[in-house]
Amino acid sequence: MDIGIDLGTANTLVYVKDEGIKVRQPSVVAVKKGSNEVVAVGDDAKRMLGRTPDTISAVRPLRDGVIADFEMTEAMLKHFIKEARTKDKGSGSKIVKASKIRVVVAVPSGITEVEKRAVKDSARHAGADEVYLIEEPMAAAIGVGLPIQDASGNMIVDIGGGTTEVAVISLSGIVQSRSVRVGGDELDESIISYMKRKYNLMIGERTAETVKIQIGSATVVDKETSMDVKGRDLVEGLPKTINVTSQEIREAMAEPLAAILDSVKVTLERCPPELAADLVDRGIMLAGGGSLLGGLDIWLAEQTGIPTHLADDPLQAIVEGTGRVLSEISFLKKVTSAGV
Ligand code: ADP
Ligand code: MG
Repeated sequence: MDIGIDLGTANTLVYVKDEGIKVRQPSVVAVKKGSNEVVAVGDDAKRMLGRTPDTISAVRPLRDGVIADFEMTEAMLKHFIKEARTKDKGSGSKIVKASKIRVVVAVPSGITEVEKRAVKDSARHAGADEVYLIEEPMAAAIGVGLPIQDASGNMIVDIGGGTTEVAVISLSGIVQSRSVRVGGDELDESIISYMKRKYNLMIGERTAETVKIQIGSATVVDKETSMDVKGRDLVEGLPKTINVTSQEIREAMAEPLAAILDSVKVTLERCPPELAADLVDRGIMLAGGGSLLGGLDIWLAEQTGIPTHLADDPLQAIVEGTGRVLSEISFLKKVTSAGV
């Protein structure tokens, strides 16, 4: 059985060969405090974020692109691999038996050797016989179908929850890359601080994310809009609703957006001239959920002067990439780091 996993800071996706994407869940684990007993994983656990009683804590073990909690990461991987191996049959469901389980895991390019080992060990504990790691930008590039084997530069920018990964790929290798700990989460946090600063309104992370998705943008798209945002008044202590405009939200996110732009610019500046020249023609490919922010592609193109394209399905690009490398063992060996 061949399984591809996109172990993201916000979402984990699991691809099973010949079956397609079988798991698409938030990278969240809820545990009982003290005992570390897992009570929920994925969607169920995400609903608990910010709403847990004292006895339970909901955590995102990969939050900033580093594995903050090895035990939780392992529990999560186990859960999702099991889910991917489960076949629904009539009334009950059962776990598919496989003679050999081969797993490809896409990991942030910034993680350390220790973290890489931890991911491999976790996958093995979860039942994998052979584990390969692939760097996320490589998986993303393969997933969106960039001609990475050619002797010409391709730039991929993957904006996830906790990190933004920028990479220039040529001849199946990463020539230049940069991983910064700024992504969708940071945009949410900037909205939280803005609401606090300007309106004395305390809002939760999930509310901030909703605001970003509904009216957030990197540049004006069509026309400005607004929405009601609910939270708690910091002075009165009571629930309050404020109407905010898309313009205000853009202003709120200016700093993290500038950091994302900077990571792209720095990578461009460090790129060998021949490859930089290729990029002018081929453009930048955007992937990751964060790239869905309104007008981000247009804004990056304006700011860099390089044509920028949004992947057809930015949230799926990486797991699709792991799926593609699974189908070709020689390719797998070339683009991933060795097995167990
Ligand atoms: P990761 O790979 O780190 O798990 P994802 O690629 O799954 O991250 O992207 C998650 C991020 O994308 C979150 O910060 C989420 O808020 C953001 N996101 C998802 N959809 C949208 C959207 N339509 N507009 C803006 N941001 C979005
Ligand atoms: Mg990702």
